Amino acid sequence: MQVIHTIAELRQARKQLGRVAMVPTMGALHEGHLSLMRLAQEHADAVIVSIFVNPTQFGPNEDFDRYPRDLDGDLQKCRDVGVAIVFAPSASEMYPNGLQHGTFVEVPELTTHLCGASRPGHFRGVTTVVSKLFLAVQPDVAIFGQKDYQQAAVIARMTQDLLMPIEIIAAPTSREADGLAMSSRNRNLKPEHRAAALGLCRGLTLAHQSFANGERDAQILEGIVESTMQSAAQNQSFSIDYVDCVHPESLKPLNTVGDGGAVICVAAFVGEVRLIDNLRLDLELPAELTQWRNP
Ligand code: AMP
Repeated sequence: MQVIHTIAELRQARKQLGRVAMVPTMGALHEGHLSLMRLAQEHADAVIVSIFVNPTQFGPNEDFDRYPRDLDGDLQKCRDVGVAIVFAPSASEMYPNGLQHGTFVEVPELTTHLCGASRPGHFRGVTTVVSKLFLAVQPDVAIFGQKDYQQAAVIARMTQDLLMPIEIIAAPTSREADGLAMSSRNRNLKPEHRAAALGLCRGLTLAHQSFANGERDAQILEGIVESTMQSAAQNQSFSIDYVDCVHPESLKPLNTVGDGGAVICVAAFVGEVRLIDNLRLDLELPAELTQWRNP
């Protein structure tokens, strides 16, 4: 496996490869990332993983400094999976004219709600860095996780709008045995906050169950998620950022769930850690969540 830190070297190495699948990440890799890499291998001759904690997608009061970093551990995991190249650039390599003064890419339409509303500038940072990574790597296909449901939709829209010849694949969310969606930020969760963190997937499961029993009112479904999370949190430090029942493609908020189905997206702070999760109500419940259904 090659470990590359500069764009110039990356371009040289890329020329030797045939069909490439790319998996962009911010490192602190877990099984969810590795599942994306394995899926990538099925779609190409070689897999390129990028590891870059992108400063422009963090707001001024967010956790850029506290974001977990473990390059040595990450490289070992990538080696074990059989990745061809890990690209781990510096910020100055990615932003040669500085973080403020460069050229940015924006996708206005899908970014007004959900994380777009609560993290101003976040998606502008994401679409900009992913565009740069795509131009540097020139992958044939790129894999993103449905764990970041809105992000995958925004990236797919960006590649379509900018006529990028890259297939975007959205891969299912990997969960811990107790249902918690895997996330690099879980490393920052205090053990005493685990029960509160589990409120997210438990709330989503109960909304899924209610939908299966015929409930179609979005506000009621959102209310189930909110009240389940609040009671799971007990007296731990916990606050809800948003719980929104939206259309799976347009991401527009719904009043009533129609034939197009729905995804409920949630974001919450557990202690200092911001967690997100989501669930398609109209698709089968993932196996790790069945334990949270009401009898
Ligand atoms: P991150 O390093 O958190 O920026 O994530 C890099 C990629 O991995 C993104 O496409 C994420 O959606 C994806 N990802 C993160 N967590 C999971 C998970 N639990 N299951 C599947 N994909 C994930």
